[in-house]
Amino acid sequence: MTTVSAAVTETKSTCPYCGVGCGVIIESQGTQITGVRGDPDHPANFGRLCTKGSTLHHTAAQPITLQSRLLQPQRRMVRGEAPTAIDWTEAMGLAADQFHRVITQHGPDAVGFYISGQLLTEDYYVFNKLAKGLIGTNNVDTNSRLCMSSAVAGYKLTLGADAPPACYDDLQFADTLFITGSNTAYAHPILFRRIEDARRANPRMKIIVADPRRTETADVADLYLPILPGTDVALFNGMLHVMLWEGLTDHAYIAEHTNGFEVLRDRVRDYAPKEVAKLCGISEDALLQAARWFAGVQPQHSGKPRRSTLSLYCQGLNQSSSGTMKNAALINLHLATGQIGKPGAGPFSLTGQPNAMGGREVGGLANLLSAHRDMSNPDHRAEVAALWGVPDVPALPGKTAVEMFEAAADGEIKALWIACTNPAQSMPDQATVRRALERAEFVVVQEAFATTATCDYADLLLPATTWGEKDGTVTNSERRISRVRPAVQAAGQARHDWLIATDFAQRLEARLRPGLPPLFPYDTPEQVWNEHRESTRGRDLDITGLSYAKLDATPAQWPYRDGETQGKVRLYEDGIFPTADGRARFADTPNEPLAEPRDARYPFSLNTGRLRDQWHGMSRTGTLGRLFGHVPEPAIEMNEQDMARMKLADGDLVHVTSRRGSLVLPVQASTQVQPAQSFIAMHWGEEFISGSSSTGERLAGVNALTTPAYCPRSKQPELKHAAVKILKAEMP
Ligand code: SF4
Repeated sequence: MTTVSAAVTETKSTCPYCGVGCGVIIESQGTQITGVRGDPDHPANFGRLCTKGSTLHHTAAQPITLQSRLLQPQRRMVRGEAPTAIDWTEAMGLAADQFHRVITQHGPDAVGFYISGQLLTEDYYVFNKLAKGLIGTNNVDTNSRLCMSSAVAGYKLTLGADAPPACYDDLQFADTLFITGSNTAYAHPILFRRIEDARRANPRMKIIVADPRRTETADVADLYLPILPGTDVALFNGMLHVMLWEGLTDHAYIAEHTNGFEVLRDRVRDYAPKEVAKLCGISEDALLQAARWFAGVQPQHSGKPRRSTLSLYCQGLNQSSSGTMKNAALINLHLATGQIGKPGAGPFSLTGQPNAMGGREVGGLANLLSAHRDMSNPDHRAEVAALWGVPDVPALPGKTAVEMFEAAADGEIKALWIACTNPAQSMPDQATVRRALERAEFVVVQEAFATTATCDYADLLLPATTWGEKDGTVTNSERRISRVRPAVQAAGQARHDWLIATDFAQRLEARLRPGLPPLFPYDTPEQVWNEHRESTRGRDLDITGLSYAKLDATPAQWPYRDGETQGKVRLYEDGIFPTADGRARFADTPNEPLAEPRDARYPFSLNTGRLRDQWHGMSRTGTLGRLFGHVPEPAIEMNEQDMARMKLADGDLVHVTSRRGSLVLPVQASTQVQPAQSFIAMHWGEEFISGSSSTGERLAGVNALTTPAYCPRSKQPELKHAAVKILKAEMP
C-alpha cells in the first residue's frame, strides 16, 4: 500500500491518536514525512481528518534530536543522574539479567509490565505472552485500564462478551442518539462530524446529551441533561422506571432474549422520576422526555415500529468507581426496549486510544486472556497454554494499573517494564506512582519520546519506533482492524515495540527454560499477528478469515471467520448472545455513591478530560505550536457564580488542593461548568503545572489531585471525580 510519484512516496496508514481509527495517507520524501491527508477509501473517516490528525506530519517532521526522541538505548547508573548511551546487546542483556534475578529471588509476581493502548496489536500480543506464558505472571496491564476496562466489564456482565455491537454506519439509521459521558466533539471529532451529517440527513433525529459539563457536544443536543457527578446509574434506572410505568418496554424482546429482568424491575421500582430528577439535578420533565425518546415508541403508541436508539458513551461512564454499573445500567435500557441488534440501535462504547480494542482482543489486561478468554476459566487457561506451548498460565488475576504501582510502592513488585506510556503523568495519585518508580529496584522505560516524566525514573531507556515508522494493525471502536504502515525508517537506533519485547523474551527464555522449543520465533509483525489470528478460532472475535493481505486491501470488522468474505457489521441481529443459554443478562444496578464526595473541607467537584487539539501527555501534540492556538495554557475552569462569590477574576492564580496534593494554576470562568464543580484538562504535565503532595513531594499535572479509588469490578480508577478545595493564591 505504498505508491511513489515524483519523488513523493504515499503510504496508507492509520491515525495514532484516537479510537475513531481514521485512515491516513502519509506523504514522504526520503527519510522525511512531508505531508498527511485523510484516506478517502477508509470507512472510518472517508478522507476527513481532525485538527490533530491533519497536523501529524508536522509533529513527525520536528527536528529529531536527543532532546525530543530516544535514539539509542541508555543506562542510568545512578538515579537522578543523566543516563549514558549503550548498545542494544548490552541493553537487552542487562534487562534480561535484572528481570531474571528478580524472578529467581522473589518469584514471577515480583515483576510487572505496564503497557499502552498506543501499542499495536502485535506489540500487545508479545508482551501478553511474555508475561503470562513465559514468566508466569499475570502482572501485565495497560493504560487502557484507565480508559475502557469498565466498558469491557459492562459488556461481559450483560451481553456475555466484550464486543461493541454497533458500528459507525448506525449513526445513519438512528432516530435517537443518547450521548452520555462523552464529549464526542473533542474526543472523537471525526465521529462527531458523522453525527452532524446524520442529523442533517435525518431531521427526525433527536439527540440527548447527559453530562455534568455543558460541552460542545451538548451544544447540538435537543435535550441536555446536566446531571450531577456520579448520578448516571440513578438517571438510567429512573428512565427505566418511567418506561415501565408508561408501558414503553419491549415485552417480547425481554421474554425471548434476556434473563434477570424481574430483579432489575424490583430495583428500579424505587427510582421514581421526581426523586431521581432531584438526585440528578435535572427537571422531572427532562427525565420523562429522555425516557420516551430512548424507548423509541412512536407518538400515541401508533403501532408503527419503534424508532432506533443508539447510545454513545465513553470516559464519563468508564472512569468511575462504579464504572461497570454505569455501563450495565445503560445496556439494561437497550435490552429492556429491544434497542440492540438492529440498524441504528445499540450500546456503543467509544474507545479513547487508537488500539485499546486490539489490546482487549489479545487479552492484554491483567484479568484477561487471549481472544476474549477468561482467566478464571480452567478450560480457557488450558487452551491458551496449548496455543503458546507452555505447561500452564497462572489462574490468579495480576495487578491492574493502580494495584501495580501500589504494589511497587509497597516493595512487592521490584522490577517494572513500562512501554509507550507515561504513568508519572497519566496515573491518578501521582505521589504513590512516583514513590513506586523510586522504590522499584529496576525500571525499564520503552519509549519513542525522550520528554516524558517517566523517563526520569528509568534505569534503562529503550528507544522505540513511533507513528510513521511502525508496522502492524490496530482495531478501532467499531471492531474494524486497520493496517499501520511505515512511511520512513526508524529514527536513530529505535526498534519496533514487538521486536524489543521479542528480543527480551528470547533472552529471558534462554535463562528460564533453556533447551526447550522457542516460544517467540518471530521475524515480522505478520508472524505475530498470524499467531494471534489462530488464537481467535471459534471465539466471538474469530478473525481466521482475515490476513495481512486482505487488510492491505481494506480494513475489516471482526468477527471475520474462515470462508467469509466480509466481517460482521453489527452484532446480535439474531437475538442470540454469547452466554451459556444465548440470552443477554439484565444486571441489577444499584446507584453507588462517588468514592470521594464533596464535603465542607473539599467543597468542589473536580472533573478532568480532553481538549480538542491535544493528546494525552502532549509528547507529540505538544511539539507543535499551532495546536496551542485553541487552548494556549492550563487553567482550572469554574462557574462564574463561584468566582464572583470568591472574588476571583479570569487569570487569578488559585491553589487547588485535594487529599493527595496541591497545584497552583490560573482560574478561568466557564459557562460549561456548573456551580460547585470545576474542570482541568488532563494534558498539562510538569513543564506547565507544578505542585506538591501532602508530604511535600514535587508533583505535576491534574493527577497530583485525582483519587486512586477504582471500580471494584473493572478496576478502572475514578479519574472523573475528586473532591477539592480552591483558594485564591496570595501574591508575594
Ligand atoms: Fe485521528 Fe481521532 Fe482525529 Fe480521526 S478523529 S483524525 S483518529 S484524532
